[in-house]
Formats: sequence, structure tokens, C-alpha cells
Amino acid sequence: PLTLSARAQALQPSLTLAITAKARELRGEGKDICSLSAGEPDFDTPAFIRQAAAEALEAGHTRYGPVAGEPELRQAIAAKLSQENGVPTRPDQVLVTNGGKQALYNLFQVLLDPGDEVLLPAPYWLSYPEMAQLAGASVRCLTTDASGGFRFSPEQLEAAITPASRLLVLNSPSNPTGMVLSRTELEGIAAVLRRHPAVAVVCDEIYEMLLSPGHVHHSLAAVAPDLAERIFIVNGFAKGWAMTGWRIGWLAGAPHVVAAASALQSQSTSNVCSFAQFGALAAVSGSRDCVQEMAAEFSRRRSRLSDGLMAISGLELLPPEGAFYAFPDVSAWGLDSMTLCGRLLEEVGLAVVPGAAFGDDRCIRLSCAASPATIDDGLKRLRRFGATL
Ligand code: PLP
Repeated sequence: PLTLSARAQALQPSLTLAITAKARELRGEGKDICSLSAGEPDFDTPAFIRQAAAEALEAGHTRYGPVAGEPELRQAIAAKLSQENGVPTRPDQVLVTNGGKQALYNLFQVLLDPGDEVLLPAPYWLSYPEMAQLAGASVRCLTTDASGGFRFSPEQLEAAITPASRLLVLNSPSNPTGMVLSRTELEGIAAVLRRHPAVAVVCDEIYEMLLSPGHVHHSLAAVAPDLAERIFIVNGFAKGWAMTGWRIGWLAGAPHVVAAASALQSQSTSNVCSFAQFGALAAVSGSRDCVQEMAAEFSRRRSRLSDGLMAISGLELLPPEGAFYAFPDVSAWGLDSMTLCGRLLEEVGLAVVPGAAFGDDRCIRLSCAASPATIDDGLKRLRRFGATL
């Protein structure tokens, strides 16, 4: 058989997608399976957004468009960043991408060389290390844990920086931990970064709309405008607007870097689906009522899941402050996370994701992007399993 490239051989396929597929397969075989594995809103895309895309399709937006995105959409995203996030942004600083994922991938490709280091708070979303590796860079983790609220200190960041450090990844609200960085914490991070002018930051804000009561999303670039030229914002429509399948996100930051990411995109995927961008335009320029309604429902489900988890003995949990996951430390049960998740699926039909995939083998990730009845069912199965140990 043909030999794969070293790059392809080193690549780990997404475990979350694999587990979701496995759960679907078992259910297809007639097994009774409860899945709390997917990171996907279970709501339909709001009607006015679907309508706008359908109209654009009928109006003939079916051809190649500008690689960097439809001008109206770049303009609207720049206005959103300027007004909602307090980060003054011009349209030429915005690249429309195939989901937040491509924004991150492009950025890693245009900023990183072999030998460079990415500073990655752990637990992390599982695509970051793979993307760093695909760019030839290595990863230096800033380790955090449930008992410390999954937070790293400015001292820890300072100590992790080396002459090879090129990019710090911040993901708040966080997948998988649900941690939300406060303004004070961002100020502490900014103070360290001021001493290290070669280190850029990418802020993955894809869960910004999904916050527990009492928590507020702050953009680092708004908290530290003096650092704005080395701060990149990645965001998208998938989570906040229930548009996962549309594949639309964006990268915003310094124009020359955004232009390089656009050049890369011109040689790989070209523009994002033309008529879909008009749906995204309606979403970002429209009222946030639909987003608020979905966010409020996710908040209720988040408390339902975390209250249920905290009532199970042996689990340690940071009650999630945002996003739609809970990431309890289950190490008291004495099983590594892969074994535990395998047994949960086999013995009680519960599909959840092993923490090992996110860089913390003591934890498992449960999603609350599921109906309240499914959440209750999942909790019941977890309790039943815990009682057998
Ligand atoms: N960033 C984080 C932290 C995520 O959890 C996800 C999706 O799961 C993404 C980015 C990518 O989102 P998308 O490419 O669907 O916009």
C-alpha cells in the first residue's frame, strides 16, 4: 500500500466525532444508548436565518465569491466585533472561514514554523494540538485542574514562555471545562504578554454567547487594546446561532496576517459557500433574541447537569461557567478515562468523551446540549455505574 506522509501518520482523528458515530451505530443496532457526547446545539437554525439563505440561493448567489468572504458579511462581522466586543475592527481585518476550525487552522499555518512553540492551557479542545503539529510546531501545556477551577496563574504563564514561544491559545468559555476567564484574569495575562512581544494570542470565542448567570465574556483585545495587533479572534456561527452544519466562522486581527490566511484559503478551499454567507449575514446583523433564548435554555440545562453531577459521590466538578459541557474529575473511581468511557458505553449505554482526549485523564466530558430528559437519563446511568464500583 502507499505510504502516508509523516504528517498524516502523526494525525489523531477527532475522538469526539468518533464516539458520537459509535453511539449512533450502537443505537442503529437497536441498543438503548444515551449520548451526552456531541458538542452541538439540538436546536434548529432560527427561521429568519434559513429564510435569508434560501432567498440568496434563489437570487443566484451560487457562484464563486471573494475568497475572504462577501463584503457585506465582513463589514457586519467587523461591526459586531467593534460594538459588541469592544474591539475596533475594520472589514479588511476579517476573514470569513469554513467554521471556526478553518480560522484556527489557517492562523496556525501562517504564524507557526517548525521549532515554534504553542502555549496551550490544558485541558484543551482536542483540535489545537493537532493543528499545531500540522504546522510543525510543538505544544507546551499550562496544566490546570478541577480543584484550581481550571485556571492558570500569570506566574505559570511567565514560567512557561521560552524564546521559541510564538502563540498562546485562550479558549473562554472553555471546551471542555466550562471555565470563563474574568476581566482580572485577562489583565493578569496581558501584563505577562507585555513583557514578551514575540508571543501572539489567539482567543477562541466560539462559546461567547453561552454563559452561566453571573459570568460575562470579555475579549482580551478589549481589555488590553495596546496588545491588539498581536491578538487574533476566532469565532463562528455554529454554537451561538445553532448553525453547526453551515460551516461559517471568522478570523479577525492584524491585516497582514489575515491577508496571509486569505492567501492560504485561496489555495485550499476558496470562498465559504456563497448563499450560506447571506444566512450568516442575517444572523450577525439581526436581533440577538433567538440567541438569548437558546442561551437561557442552555443555562438551565447546564445547572441541571452540574447539580446532578455534584450529587454523585466521588466526582469533583467546577460548575461550568459557560459553553455547554461539564468536565468532572472522576479519578476517585480508580479508572483511567478511556477505560471508564468504554465501560460506561458497554455496561450502562452512556456515551461520553474521555478526558484523555482533552489532555486530562482524570476527567470525562459530558455535554448538556441535549434535552433535559436525556440529561436526566445520562445522570441516572452514571449513578447506576458508580454504584457498581
Ligand atoms: N473551537 C472550539 C473550542 C470548539 O469546541 C469548536 C467546535 O466544537 C470549534 C472551535 C469549531 O467550531 P466550528 O468549526 O464548527 O465553527
